[in-house]
Amino acid sequence: MIKCQKCGNVFPDNSRFCGVCGAQLYGPTPALYVQKVDEKEPFLAIIFSFILAGLGQIYCGKIARGLVIMVISFVPMLYVMTFALSGIMMDHEDFMSAMWSFAIVMLLYLVFWVWQIYDAYQLSVKWNDEAERTHTKPW
Ligand SMILES: [Zn+2]
Repeated sequence: MIKCQKCGNVFPDNSRFCGVCGAQLYGPTPALYVQKVDEKEPFLAIIFSFILAGLGQIYCGKIARGLVIMVISFVPMLYVMTFALSGIMMDHEDFMSAMWSFAIVMLLYLVFWVWQIYDAYQLSVKWNDEAERTHTKPW
């Protein structure tokens, strides 16, 4: 005999629904209710951040982080434009010293750019680990 969880009436073993209140007597297994969280493809995270700095982070659900990286990555672009415009009017000595600071900024940007690709990859791996473990979105 099966007892209805809702109203307490008892029915034969093969009953699927309660004859009094209509509740389902054999509920679906809890496993079916486990939420499937979409996986983040690490390869895509790398590609996105390669195309546009911060895009891989946004793909991995870190919107604010991605936007901050995007804004930071625009700074060297402004710097290049300023350098190009002011460079025309500089004499040789000033130009050479400006060249050095330009090279340093570009080098720092390169490090930042490589880091943010690695960061996007890390986020996708972390997302997948947490999603698999907890069955909920990690963030
Ligand atoms: Zn019932």
